[in-house]
Amino acid sequence: MPKDAASKMIQELAMIAHELRRPIETIAKSAELVNRAQAMSALKEEKLHEIMDGIITNCHRLSLLTHNIMEIANIENGNVKLIVEKLDLNIFLDELKEFLSLYEYVHNVKFVFKVSLKDPLMTCDFKKLERIILNFVSNAVKYSKNTNRRVTITVSDKDEYITFSVKDRGIGIEKKNIDKIFDKFYRIESFSTRQTEGCGLGLTIVKRFIEVLNGEISVTSEVGKGSEFTVKIPRVSKSRGTACKILELSRSYQMYKTSVDEIFADIQK
Ligand code: ADP
Repeated sequence: MPKDAASKMIQELAMIAHELRRPIETIAKSAELVNRAQAMSALKEEKLHEIMDGIITNCHRLSLLTHNIMEIANIENGNVKLIVEKLDLNIFLDELKEFLSLYEYVHNVKFVFKVSLKDPLMTCDFKKLERIILNFVSNAVKYSKNTNRRVTITVSDKDEYITFSVKDRGIGIEKKNIDKIFDKFYRIESFSTRQTEGCGLGLTIVKRFIEVLNGEISVTSEVGKGSEFTVKIPRVSKSRGTACKILELSRSYQMYKTSVDEIFADIQK
């Protein structure tokens, strides 16, 4: 292996280890604490729930991280498969609105949709398109202050392209960092001062998906004022495919949920 490739690989492994370390340590410490305290019958039920919640959150964090890493590996091995369908974008957007309305309440955010389509028909891998938009939306919420949050989603068409943009009034991104945010594991906040969840893989995956869909991405941002992520995708996908990794992902989560539900039903007997 060339020296450059080897050192890049070691650097990536170090970044993965860095991201894995904190949740693993939290889980290990929590389990040890429960073990010791229970041996001394010193654990209040309320505290036990709190520790268990922490363990569950960190397990989900690890699971998401490993899924994202596997997904990046698949993409880099040229293994991105597509399900291309023809759909009325109004149907796609209605589903998105419905999903985001649940998010509005939980995350204290107002979503505004501005849709102006001369022709709403599009041929695309809608799971990937959804993933792209949801990643922008979740970042728009994450990187905005908790008060007066507002995210505007604009959809328009011109000639053979559909343009989707997600605009926030959040913390913004410095010009010098805009290109870097698409790099693997890149996060502007340093590990010690981080206030938000995330591992810096979302936009890397999104960028690769946009490439697969033959689209283009652009970002405009002003520190303290907000950011806008815009993606332009051909109305008719040039790519064809059969299977989709995202379906496999949601299936594996479903299997995990079912097995937890089954074990729970069993211990209640
Ligand atoms: P993460 O899981 O860290 O959010 P992403 O790959 O989605 O990973 O984003 C990479 C980095 O880009 C984030 O850590 C954040 O610093 C910056 N970023 C992304 N979206 C926004 C946004 N809307 N406003 C401000 N910063 C953003």
